[in-house]
Amino acid sequence: MSNILCRNPRTGVILNEIPKTPIESLPQVFERAARAQQLWSKVSLKQRIRKMIHLREVLCRRLDEMAQVIHEENGKPAIEAIACELVPSMELISYYIKIAPKKLKNKKVKFRNPFMNYRKSTVVYQPMGTVAVISPWNYPFLLAFGDLVCALLAGNAVVFKPSEHTSFVAQKMHELFEEAGFPVDILQTVYGEGDLGAAIIDQKPAKVSFTGSVATGKAIMKQASQYLIPVCLELGGKDAMIILPDANLDYATSAALWGGFTNSGQACASTERLLVHESIASAFVGRLKEKLELLSVETDIGVCTIEKQKHIYEEHLADAKKRNLEILLGGEFSSDRTRLLPTLVSGQGVEDSKIYIEETFGPVIAITTFKSVREAIEKANRSPYGLLASVITENISLAEEIALELQVGTVTINEVLFTAGVPETPWGGMKDSGFGRKHSENGLYEYVNQKHINRPRYGILTFKSWWWYPYSNYQKQFFHAWGDMYGGGMLDKLLKLPHLLWTMLQFLKNEPRL
Ligand code: NAD
Repeated sequence: MSNILCRNPRTGVILNEIPKTPIESLPQVFERAARAQQLWSKVSLKQRIRKMIHLREVLCRRLDEMAQVIHEENGKPAIEAIACELVPSMELISYYIKIAPKKLKNKKVKFRNPFMNYRKSTVVYQPMGTVAVISPWNYPFLLAFGDLVCALLAGNAVVFKPSEHTSFVAQKMHELFEEAGFPVDILQTVYGEGDLGAAIIDQKPAKVSFTGSVATGKAIMKQASQYLIPVCLELGGKDAMIILPDANLDYATSAALWGGFTNSGQACASTERLLVHESIASAFVGRLKEKLELLSVETDIGVCTIEKQKHIYEEHLADAKKRNLEILLGGEFSSDRTRLLPTLVSGQGVEDSKIYIEETFGPVIAITTFKSVREAIEKANRSPYGLLASVITENISLAEEIALELQVGTVTINEVLFTAGVPETPWGGMKDSGFGRKHSENGLYEYVNQKHINRPRYGILTFKSWWWYPYSNYQKQFFHAWGDMYGGGMLDKLLKLPHLLWTMLQFLKNEPRL
């Protein structure tokens, strides 16, 4: 059995060695999970919430240690680990423990139609069973943590497969759950590569929640479809920021700077395409370059976490050079090759280049211009992806109109990216960016079966329903009169009501149900 070598991408130092989980052991992993889940599902929501409060306490206490592990293994600045992963994770617990009692409470359904009122309906929210969470390396803590909290709070067991590139962070995260006193086996973290992820799906989890690339998302959906396993897919992005001509240049350039370069651009929702109104383009780009040069690549930007990304950067830059695009800044690796220097690309034909069309997932922004709002919307939507878009302007009502036309899951006006860490608002994409929603009440509902229970309103039995046998002319007349009620205005309906009641009485009097 081989080990995963957890490596610091900045220094190459091995941080830890973690034994790979043997694929053959997965059936036992799932059996243990199923047993743990049987008990966990009977634990009251109040007690589950108590465990989450412990978890938040433990994380709060070990904040610096966790930030350091994320910084070392993922390569982002420690401040980003705290601000963009750990604080949002504690906020996420605080939010879900507050809404869970209300959102998971049985819901009574009100019938609008008086003919249905002899029965009553309730929706109950039940755990799905054992769910699989498969996660990426770029936000190795927050992205998985949100899924684990929602799935466990809703009463599921979880088999969690972190990215092979950030297994140490996952191991430390697992420790937090243990220390918080979660039952043994309710969360099982398994370590390995894509083949382990694929083997997990063959164990038929009740759900697969996947965050990662489009290619893997498609493979997972194909495999899961064989067993009709529901999937939630949070995939890639090629997000556009639209800078309208009235935008405050200082504000707009700061937004683009953070949107494009936080986590070294290794964010699903980072700004990879800048659409700037032609009237301000040259002033904007000049200002952006100035600010970018003031950033410290060492302390502000972080390093490239995995080797594979560097090959993508090389491919995209080679394509840009072949097209004679202007590399306004950067375009090359640091001398130790741990990072691509922050890069701005523009020029004639940029919109046909790989750097503008394909996900680069690095510290690179491709810049183009537009003449009209309509053109900006069309350009922003001309992408297979649909995760997030931003609009920077002082005209908020115009930005709201633009937002309605953008084909994405989230639009931020005069902000960028940050709602990926906000628990109250839904997070997810459309088109190639996937489907399903994290965060908000949807984040919980991704992990429950909504079961509808319908029963007689009064007593054990009720009269036999309108639609039961025998079919008859009286019954037909009654349903016809019922159908007639959907046409016409209020007065029409009032005039038709006596006929409906008369057909009902005829029906009840003359045709006892079988
Ligand atoms: P990836 O698809 O290579 O890997 C993601 C996870 O899937 C890893 O744990 C990997 O081991 C596993 N995996 C690989 N092949 C598998 C298979 N056949 N079956 C099951 N599991 C398999 O993605 P990555 O490089 O880790 O992450 C980067 C991608 O994630 C980018 O495209 C980024 O945009 C996307 N992402 C999206 C969001 C979002 O919220 N939409 C958030 C973060 C990252």
